[in-house]
Amino acid sequence: MAYKETFWMACDSIEQLRAEYGPFHTRLEAEREARNLGFGFLLRYEHLVGDQDDIQEVRCIFIELPPPATDGIHSALRLHTRCATCGESAVHELSWRAEVWADIHEFEHLRHRVRLFAQTRAEGLKEISDWRDACA
Ligand SMILES: [Zn+2]
Repeated sequence: MAYKETFWMACDSIEQLRAEYGPFHTRLEAEREARNLGFGFLLRYEHLVGDQDDIQEVRCIFIELPPPATDGIHSALRLHTRCATCGESAVHELSWRAEVWADIHEFEHLRHRVRLFAQTRAEGLKEISDWRDACA
């Protein structure tokens, strides 16, 4: 029986000559990578795969990403990570660096929980709650 296979790419435009990055299995992953790269589009590929694992049909759909949110993690000037358990903290310019820091800290220190604060011009420091879930 034929089945459908879907994957996602981050891309910088919808022109023929475009930079693409991927593939990703989920839209969230592709979107995060697109944001990191400053790309404005996602490309969703759908392959219809036949009995002999032959691709019978390819469909691709461009999705334009909304502009970065005006508050929260994307517009932050700086991101502060701070461990709620031991108090160790660090400052990051990029959200993925904050994530990596938290991953390493929580890996090296069992049951520690890292909180994230975004520093914005308008609001100063603001905690981003459930950020690990949102980035997962
Ligand atoms: Zn800690």
